[in-house]
This record gives sequence, structure tokens and C-alpha cells, in this order.
Amino acid sequence: MSMDAIYDAITADAGSDEIAALPLPDTMRAAVVRRSDEAMFDGLDSRDKDPRKSLHIDQVPIPPLGPNEVLMAPMASAINFNTVWTSIFEPVSTFRFLEKFARDGELGARHDLDYHIVGSDASGVVLRTGPGVTQWKPGDRVTVHCNYVDMEAHQGHEDSMLDPNQKIWGFESNFGSLAEVSMVRANQLMPKPEHLSWEEAASLGLVLATSYRMLVGENEARMKQGDIVLIWGATGGLGGFATQLVLNGGGIPVCVVSSPDKVKLLEEVGVEHIIDRKAEGYQFWTEDGQPDYAEYRRFGKQIRELVGEDPDIVFEHPGKATFGASVFVAKRGGTIVTCASTSGYMHEYDNRYLWMNLKNILGSHFANYNEAWAANKLVAQGMIHPILSKTYTLEETGEAAYQVHHNLHTGKIGILVGATEEGLGVKNEPLRTKHLDEIDKWKHML
Ligand code: NDP
Repeated sequence: MSMDAIYDAITADAGSDEIAALPLPDTMRAAVVRRSDEAMFDGLDSRDKDPRKSLHIDQVPIPPLGPNEVLMAPMASAINFNTVWTSIFEPVSTFRFLEKFARDGELGARHDLDYHIVGSDASGVVLRTGPGVTQWKPGDRVTVHCNYVDMEAHQGHEDSMLDPNQKIWGFESNFGSLAEVSMVRANQLMPKPEHLSWEEAASLGLVLATSYRMLVGENEARMKQGDIVLIWGATGGLGGFATQLVLNGGGIPVCVVSSPDKVKLLEEVGVEHIIDRKAEGYQFWTEDGQPDYAEYRRFGKQIRELVGEDPDIVFEHPGKATFGASVFVAKRGGTIVTCASTSGYMHEYDNRYLWMNLKNILGSHFANYNEAWAANKLVAQGMIHPILSKTYTLEETGEAAYQVHHNLHTGKIGILVGATEEGLGVKNEPLRTKHLDEIDKWKHML
């Protein structure tokens, strides 16, 4: 038995009872890394670790369903950098996360397998609901956010990102979105923005909600109208949505990218202040590994020349390569908000510039359900648009991850899972027509 009947029913917009009555196959196609491959890249440089060699499309069992859980059929997914980390087994093999999960008990133990199904973004359709699920039913068209938390611990009840057992679905849990059937918690589901196609709706969740928490939500930098926001990697996943959020929220983005093509893309979407870091030749570290203050000053001067003052907020994620400069250029009393360390996680910055100028460094990580929901609502309202440069098939997941690993992409790369082609799944045509110019402007940042 295959997924064909289920996909036919989804395409025909079948009702809840009909979808619930359709039998699920025993096995499914899924993009996995294998435990037996864990050491395959030992001794290689990060850049030479090739996701095309470690990501396989295997036939694996449909995941088991537990309390408050949902089986859903991803129609589309997207590549996030966490899938790159999993596929190159850095900074640790994600099988360690699955082993840790297994120590929580029998429900966690289901995740500790010899394969890890990756993927942390999806749009699709609910197929089955487990005991205790009351808000969702088979047939519901959904997007999925990746905050996987059962809310049992008291620490998470003001902000679920503070729950000590919080995990990122498809990275720290198994049964991610790059599979014909995925297992999620009911509190990861959100209504699909119906003016978007499956792949558009699947492309936003993780990076948009992360950027939303960092810049807009109550928990981190809390951007105000008129704030100057320095955005690294402004045509990447996080940076592309940070740019949209700043433009929408009345802030002034100063966008950093690394090629004339990317500068052009940003100009086309209305960004005024752009720095091409490659063309400028910024190197914030000297060859003997010391911070280069002359470069910090040159960078700060360029920002002042562009916008007349120092940034209120620096949107950080490249990490080691840029963090010292980010702390240096933030304005007196300003905020550096960070969620990652793509170029290395041992950061160095000159603390004199932090304390003497009363700056703040905020650590941020994904988003709680409310924040993810608020970000999804902005999409459904047509206020934030997907930035989807390309889609691949499930079989091409390795190549798609390779593109992200080598920074060959812009915006997001989508993966068609159940969807047979791009453009399917749109239900609200009037809303799409209303926003078509903006959707087209942001979608094709390539
Ligand atoms: P992308 O690869 O889409 O974009 C990252 C961008 O960063 C690149 O396009 C590049 O832009 C820029 N960049 C990379 N290296 C450097 C460098 N040395 N100096 C300056 N800029 C650099 O990735 P994402 O935006 O999806 O994710 C970025 C990071 O954030 C990843 O490490 C990811 O794992 C992490 N992340 C963390 C989350 C969390 O919840 N904690 C959530 C989402 C992502 P350009 O070359 O144009 O300058």
C-alpha cells in the first residue's frame, strides 16, 4: 500500500471522516541520516562534509502515535540549517539527542532509532490524532512550528522555550517533516495560510518565528518604530524575514550580504541601506587571530554614513566571524540579539565596549507557540511573504542541504513531499490576488 489514496483524498479536499477512514501504509519514504554513518566524515573539514552522501531516502515504518500527538502528511517542507548540522554530524551527532530523549521514558524511547528522520518545517494535512487531542482533526490543513514541548515542567508555563525538556522537532526529536508521514505534538499545529501554496506555506515557519521572537515578541529585542537594525545574512533564511519584519514594523534595516546579486535583490524589495561585506573586504580577525579594531571602526563608520547613527539592534547569527564587530557597532544602550554561531560558537568581544556603553546581549532560540502563532498570523494576513528561491523533490534533499551548507541559496529552499508540483494547495485565491505583487517580489529572491 502506498500514500496514493491519501494524496488523492487530500487533492479532492476530502472530509475529516473520509481521511480518517483511509488506511495508512506500514512504511513510507523519508529523508534520514543513519547511525551507521556517524563516523563517515571524521577528519574532514566542515566544508568537505557532504550532505549528499549522508542524507538517504529510506523506506521506514510509519511512526507510532501517542497521547497529544498527531500524524500528518507533509505536502511540502523546507531545508533549515539544522538539517545541514544533522547531515554533517556537527557539532554533535543528533543521535545523541535521540538517546537523551529515550532516557525520558517509553514515549521518548520511540525516537531513539538507527535512523533519524530530519526536517523542521511543514505544511500538510492531519491524518490521525492521538488520545487527548481536541483542537485538531483529520483533514485539517496545517503548518507546523518546530517547538516540541509537552509542557509538563513548571518552568515552561510563562514561556515554553524555558521548559528544560523543550526540543526542536526533526532535530532533537525523530519523525521530522522530510517524510511522507510525520509525527508532531498537537501544540505544534497552526492553520495553513490558505492563499499560499504548500511549498510557500512550508517555507516560513522556523526562520520566521525565530526572527519574530528575536525582534518583535515580548521576550527579546522588542524593536520599536524608527529603530535601526543591523541584519547579518539579510537574504538568508533568518535575515530575509528579519528584513521583512523590520520594514513592516517601521524600523530601518541595514542589511549585510556578500554579493552584488544579493544587494540587487534587497534593492528590489525596497531596502535602502545595504553593505556588501565581500566587496568591502571586511575581515574582523587578523591573520594571527586577533580582533581587528581598525576593521570594527571602518564597519561602524560605514553604518553611520548610511543611516547617520549606530544600530539600536544587531541581529546576530554568523557568530565567531562577526560577533566582536556586532558588539562594537551597536549603539550605546543598544542590543545584540543572537540565536546562532554559523561560523563558530566560541565568540570573542571586547567587554569594555559592552559595559562602558551599557549594551545588552540577548540569547534567543526558536519561539514559543504564541510567538509562532503570531508570526503565522502575519503570513495569513498577507503582511509577511515567503522568500522561496527554489524547490527540490524529497529525493533531492541531499542536494538541497548541500546548497544551504555552501551558502549557494537565497531565502529558503523548499522540498516537495506529497505535492507533485509547485503551486498546489492554494484555497484563498482572492487573498492571493490581493497580495500577488508582494508575493512575487519576495518569493523569487534568486
Ligand atoms: P542561511 O544559510 O539561510 O543564512 C545565513 C546567512 O548568514 C548567509 O546567507 C550568509 O549571508 C550569512 N553568513 C554566513 N557566514 C557568515 C560570516 N562568516 N559572516 C557574515 N555573514 C555570514 O541560514 P539561516 O538564516 O537559516 O540560519 C543561520 C544560522 O542560524 C544557522 O547557524 C542556523 O542553524 C541558525 N538558526 C538558529 C535558530 C534558533 O532557533 N536558534 C533558528 C534558525 C536558524 P551572506 O553571505 O550574504 O552575508
